[in-house]
Amino acid sequence: MLAVRDGEVDDSIPELEAADPDVCGIAVVDHDGALRSTADADVEFSVQSAVKPFVYALALADMGEEVLDRVGTEPTGEPFDAVVLESSTGRPANPMVNAGALLTASLVDGAAPDARIERIMAGLSAFAGKELTVDEAVSHSERMLGDRNRALGHLMRSAGTLHVPVEDAITVYARACSVLVSAETLALMGATLAFGGRNPVTGEQVVSAEVVTTVLSVMVTCGMYDGSGRWLRRVGLPAKSGVAGGLVAAAPGVAGIGVYSPPLDPVGNSVRGVLACERFSDDLGLHVFAVG
Ligand code: GLU
Repeated sequence: MLAVRDGEVDDSIPELEAADPDVCGIAVVDHDGALRSTADADVEFSVQSAVKPFVYALALADMGEEVLDRVGTEPTGEPFDAVVLESSTGRPANPMVNAGALLTASLVDGAAPDARIERIMAGLSAFAGKELTVDEAVSHSERMLGDRNRALGHLMRSAGTLHVPVEDAITVYARACSVLVSAETLALMGATLAFGGRNPVTGEQVVSAEVVTTVLSVMVTCGMYDGSGRWLRRVGLPAKSGVAGGLVAAAPGVAGIGVYSPPLDPVGNSVRGVLACERFSDDLGLHVFAVG
């Protein structure tokens, strides 16, 4: 059982390694867009893998059901950056692992990388209800230190599943991971998912309710790395974490939750983020399978 002082800050890139381990921001946005948050909930950080559900949503919105043929929807039981594809199809197992997100980021509208980046930034900003920006230093490090992701890209090219140049896929994916968010931003993005794709602050229908159903379903089984099973039992909400220490959760029809605290547990989830969501689930009865 982890405690609030446990966890290690990620060291995959210098910018993440430099994070303040004592920061802990928690935010909730409910059906009418009301925001409730703690100190540090406005501290910005790179979204990292917490971006993956939203990129998946935009790819589904732009390409439709064909995305489901290109990227699987099954948990892998492997680390998020495992160099593995489905043996029978050569496609990534799901959009929440790096291989899957590299591919979904290449499936959004846009013939060239700049156009796909523009589409992703506009879509993420619509989920967030404000214009989001990229941490250029993080994006540079992600590209310079992204050789494992390049290996995944080449493996998908050789399997015929990635149809854009590997370096283009890396550029788009690295920028998506480097978008600056806060716990408050993630809470509103999560709320937009929780309310069927409609942003409760701006009122914009960002993606369809049908797209959201697919995204939330895959988040439930694949969103929390190799801790997704325990998460589903203890918290029971669709969620996605990222190695910067961000965590976004959606309580369908109730609220969006955003947490930021850099120290990670052994499977890569924010220790304080998980503990906070366990309390929310218990105290507010948010578990999707809570019956009686
Ligand atoms: N940018 C990181 C990578 O590609 C994201 C890792 C994560 O947040 O899970 O490995």
